[in-house]
Amino acid sequence: MEIQRNPTRSVRIGSVTIGAGHPIAVQSMCATPTRDVEATAAQANALHEAGAAVVRIAVDSERDAAALAEIRQRTAANLAVDLQENYRLAAKVAPHVDKIRYNPGHLYHHERQKPWRDKVRFLADIAGEHDCAIRVGVNCGSVDPAKKEKFDPADSISPMMESVLEHCEFLDSLGFTRYCVSLKDSDPLKVVEMNRRFAEARPDVPLHLGVTEAGMPPEGVIKTRIAFEQLIARGIGDTIRVSLTVPNPRKIEEISVGKAILEDIAQGRVRSVVDYGLPGLNIISCPSCSRVENEAFVELAQQVREMTAYAKEHKITIAVMGCRVNGPGETDDADLGLWCGPNYVNLKRGPQSLGAYPYDQILPRLKEELDAILAARAEEAPSA
Ligand code: SF4
Repeated sequence: MEIQRNPTRSVRIGSVTIGAGHPIAVQSMCATPTRDVEATAAQANALHEAGAAVVRIAVDSERDAAALAEIRQRTAANLAVDLQENYRLAAKVAPHVDKIRYNPGHLYHHERQKPWRDKVRFLADIAGEHDCAIRVGVNCGSVDPAKKEKFDPADSISPMMESVLEHCEFLDSLGFTRYCVSLKDSDPLKVVEMNRRFAEARPDVPLHLGVTEAGMPPEGVIKTRIAFEQLIARGIGDTIRVSLTVPNPRKIEEISVGKAILEDIAQGRVRSVVDYGLPGLNIISCPSCSRVENEAFVELAQQVREMTAYAKEHKITIAVMGCRVNGPGETDDADLGLWCGPNYVNLKRGPQSLGAYPYDQILPRLKEELDAILAARAEEAPSA
């Protein structure tokens, strides 16, 4: 099947070019602690050998930045750095990577008095100096609070759109056009809506597609497939990442699954996605990355799925996140949320915190809360 791709501009990331009709590049991210040079280099190499066009690595500290310099020596993969709050670390890592990803929603944390435009100018200067591309990566769980305030709280898409379009305009005004954009959410329908809207507004900017916290296979694969089919079949998307909650040795599945989805779409093997309204229980979990502070997280996500199976007919969302960087924000919209620290798992009901529990006590506590929601709903339901 011939898919008419959007006329995006080309953006080079190391040895690979995305946009302008180039093949859709499949990416992944290391989930090993970045400071563990040996493990992270091994995972970057495994992903590279599996066909990853770009491998992303998170850097949150000076120590991570120093490790990345060493990792660079041990892998031929095109590397992208994932920056969160400390945008200034870009200066340390840019010489060792091919792309810098920043999140507009995280820029306000450091140097609060400084306007975001000054910070983006800094990043664009660094990227230009070190031959790096940029990704403006907007995420549902970490939207700029100034943008959120402007819109109805029920409208999660408009603040993200306004934020990303503003950043694109500003980068253009600086003469920095070597960038792509991502708009991610854990709900595949929102991912489709946002990316469609963005592609309409800025058909020239390459898009990196992904469903964040898609979860474990097979559900995580299904959610991602649904979003990608809708977008790629319409010519939207220049690079993809399939985010899966899998143990480290299985991380390369993100590449094989991504390739399989692209191949199926190209061959017209798409499912009819008329309604993905998630009628029943929806377990979302992050794909894990170097920020995971306790590897028990992946097993916990699996146990949550098994333990909650009895509620599968109920429309309830449970989110399981691997760290404190994105966990607290990204669980706000779930009915029940868990985010994992080194020794404790934090439990939430919507945005409200219910306390932190040791790993061996969290499941019964979660069950109590789930039962309470089910009981409350049963009471609300009109009797026959
Ligand atoms: S929630 Fe934390 S551990 Fe999970 S992918 Fe996001 S940053 Fe990584």
